[in-house]
Amino acid sequence: MMLTTTSTGYDEARLGFQRRDPHRPAAIFPVTSAAEIEEAVRSANDQDLPIAVQASGHGLTEGLDGGLLIATGGFDGVTVDAERKTAWIDAGATWRDVLAATAPYGLAPLSGSSPGVGAISYTLGGGLGLLARRFGYAADHVRRIEVVTPDGVRRNAEDDPELFWALRGGGGNFGVVTGIEVELFDVPTLFGGSLYFDLAEHASVPEVWREWTRTVPDEVTSAIAILPVPNIPQVPEPVRGKYVAQVQLAILGDRGEELIKPLRAIGAPAMDTVGELAYVDSGRIFAEPDHPDSYSSRNVLLSDLDALETLPELAGPGAPTMHVIGIRHLGGALSKQPKIPNAVGHREAAYSLTVLTPGAGAVDQRILEPWRSSTVGRFLNFSFGKLTDEEVAEAYDAGVYERLSDLRAKYDPKRRLRANHSL
Ligand SMILES: Cc1cc2nc3c(=O)[nH]c(=O)nc-3n(C[C@H](O)[C@H](O)[C@H](O)COP(=O)(O)OP(=O)(O)OC[C@H]3O[C@@H](n4cnc5c(N)ncnc54)[C@H](O)[C@@H]3O)c2cc1C
Repeated sequence: MMLTTTSTGYDEARLGFQRRDPHRPAAIFPVTSAAEIEEAVRSANDQDLPIAVQASGHGLTEGLDGGLLIATGGFDGVTVDAERKTAWIDAGATWRDVLAATAPYGLAPLSGSSPGVGAISYTLGGGLGLLARRFGYAADHVRRIEVVTPDGVRRNAEDDPELFWALRGGGGNFGVVTGIEVELFDVPTLFGGSLYFDLAEHASVPEVWREWTRTVPDEVTSAIAILPVPNIPQVPEPVRGKYVAQVQLAILGDRGEELIKPLRAIGAPAMDTVGELAYVDSGRIFAEPDHPDSYSSRNVLLSDLDALETLPELAGPGAPTMHVIGIRHLGGALSKQPKIPNAVGHREAAYSLTVLTPGAGAVDQRILEPWRSSTVGRFLNFSFGKLTDEEVAEAYDAGVYERLSDLRAKYDPKRRLRANHSL
């Protein structure tokens, strides 16, 4: 049933995880099937309305004013084919839904750090997951996509190879995806968790981690978050009020403890959650907050990590605004082209660096200055906030932005879709 601004449940349906600039649509269509997505797109066409889509709301960059919001959260089915090792994921499913469905078979999707994130949008944006260095981007392992294009027609994207190429990395610019089929992997458990170091005691952690990443096999996917932890009761006591480096680890195979010896040699962490864990519990590795919040960020993809020493002054406890620095180690399978090429860019990047600020403030651009010479592009999934067309283009390899824009003009000539990062 369509909701309007005066309907009961309007606010509940429009507000997602990201609260910075929420949608204020004229109408909301909460869908529970592919047929209803078709109906919603056709109804927007009939009324000449712009369309936004929201699953969990983690990725919202700019709220829709007026227009139609297609809310997919209630369309969250996951069907596993354990023999073929695939899952069909409906439009509104989060990784939590997918993990719950695949775990009984000892199979894992290429999910990311937070189980609350919507699986479809994550994958359309590339999808940089916990097992990324071993298996590549989530978009590299998509078998099928069903999409309702802005003309209201439901299509199998594979029937148009250009559309199938574009949807895997080009985001929600070409239609409303009703579901995707993804490959699953035999990963019932992994060795992972976080080592939280107090930087006042162990200032060398970021450098030690960087040197370590240069030595590890592709079975190791890791990241580091560097942040002044607020002094509030909601955070665990051992890290409360401290300037912390959280080394986040996801390691396949049985050599985990041996592989992390150089990190253990740093000294005693303030907190340690590392050990064997079921893949279904992999959200514990990053242990990201799961309550709605406001945030904005800038991301850059880097050829090297050569300005770590600038972070304490620009983004440490003495900085005017709180920033969380999130760095992920890339390379491995991420640097290889998938069997069926897709639009994901900058496979040459060695690290991803995200500068995130909670609340209503803006990211302090000075933090990014020292990284300029090693910047090779950006990753849109980690870019929360409006970007210019040039900045969006920097997410792609040469010629790809133009190719994606041409396809957008073909499928969405009236620019009805208000995608997260519009092409
Ligand atoms: C805490 C946190 C952790 C994260 N971790 C990772 C990570 O490990 N790896 C990674 O790659 N990314 C990660 N992300 C980024 C995340 O993948 C993107 O923000 C993604 O867009 C979120 O999708 P959503 O459905 O949750 O958000 P939504 O805000 O519901 O959707 C975001 C946008 O996706 C588009 N969209 C949604 N559904 C559809 C659809 N069915 N058809 C077409 N377009 C659609 C719309 O443009 C929409 O505005 C993380 C984000 C957060 C906040």
